[in-house]
Amino acid sequence: MPKDVMSDLIEMSHALGDPVNDFAILGEGNTSARIDEDSFYVKASGTELRTMAPEGFVQVRFAKVLELLDAEDTSDEVVKQVFEEASVDAEGKRPSTEALMHAILLSMDGVDFAGHTHPTAINQFTCAVEGRQAWQGRLFPDEIVCCGIAPVWVPYTDPGIPLAREVKKQVEAYIEEYAVRPKVILIQNHGLIAIGGTPAEVINATMMMCKTARVLWGTYALGGPHYLTDKQTERIFTWPSETYRAQLLEKKS
Ligand SMILES: [Zn+2]
Repeated sequence: MPKDVMSDLIEMSHALGDPVNDFAILGEGNTSARIDEDSFYVKASGTELRTMAPEGFVQVRFAKVLELLDAEDTSDEVVKQVFEEASVDAEGKRPSTEALMHAILLSMDGVDFAGHTHPTAINQFTCAVEGRQAWQGRLFPDEIVCCGIAPVWVPYTDPGIPLAREVKKQVEAYIEEYAVRPKVILIQNHGLIAIGGTPAEVINATMMMCKTARVLWGTYALGGPHYLTDKQTERIFTWPSETYRAQLLEKKS
């Protein structure tokens, strides 16, 4: 992990919040980065990705916030109290309501950055009746290189603690099924999460998911998506030169 986690996180947040990209507008979305074993930065409530500055992040301790995973009482007061106790020098700032979700994602091997956005291209699907079905197959090699063998699909739940728990459940089911960690997560009626070891991996996965979504949407004008077969998909996913290409893209920031 480089020393300048904060400058990496700010750069990533600005890219994800740039209105030109249509990933997130106004106060939508949130970002996070692991600092070390014990704590991470997460966007504070009431800030905008587009204009994030160091003061816009709160340092949160993993151990304390992860206590909410198994807590029986997750009333607003309890969550507020735990968030306060988990925060380091918050100076009146509150971590994003999705801080627990970020703690879960950043606890995964190989994940040091997470970016959650609400792209229009993605929400055309997450808000559609047949949205999930449309993502059942992969469309082209670069989708697989940047976004993995498949996205995780998370059914709609209330934001905050219920969403964090559901994300954990679906990610664990995914790892069980594919034996790799996901790169992207689609949240029904809500948006997208991209995770990775570098800011570039998060930004690339977000960009490529949105491109895939636009291509996918377009296929319905001409008979619907022509998916790659499972064999073709796996071939790209495990192909040495594609793996090498993915590593190069992930390193570039
Ligand atoms: Zn959101």
